Amino acid sequence: MAVSITYPVARQIADHAEAEAPKEACGLLAGESNHIAAAYPLRNMATAPETQFQVDPQEQLRALKAIDAAEFNWLGVYHSHPRSAPIPSEADIRDCADAGLLHLIVSLERATPQLKLWRLDQFSVTPIDLCYDKVDQPAPDRPLATSQQAAVIIVGMVALLIILLISVSLLPPAPDIMPAP
Ligand SMILES: [Zn+2]
Repeated sequence: MAVSITYPVARQIADHAEAEAPKEACGLLAGESNHIAAAYPLRNMATAPETQFQVDPQEQLRALKAIDAAEFNWLGVYHSHPRSAPIPSEADIRDCADAGLLHLIVSLERATPQLKLWRLDQFSVTPIDLCYDKVDQPAPDRPLATSQQAAVIIVGMVALLIILLISVSLLPPAPDIMPAP
């Protein structure tokens, strides 16, 4: 199973992580079935926010209401690892194990933020494929193929011929002229 995310939402999560560093950033993920369409940043209330995260229950409640109002489903949680790989820590597994939720970790370990998605339960840590949505772009204007150009010319000539025939048939009859004796 793969999960998709829109590029602006991935960017929003990476920007949040960078803004909070060296503290961990956290928030909720929402969307439909296997598609993450929105992120809701939350305050990190942990006592050691450089290595842990803990959401504010009041803020989480407000975010859940906003998710409901947007007619999205609550899909999961995201948090950042400012200095380490996007792999769940022991604390992440202990505190976040919920097979029904997705866990997105954004790592700032390298120059480019890395996003990795996981499903955590008490017995297993499963990586989930994360892909970006393809944005539909209009096809660029292409020149007509030779056969299409020929078709346009033939249709044009036939139309011209029909117009000529109709105009000739509509002409008044020529006056009778008697030849001079
Ligand atoms: Zn973590």
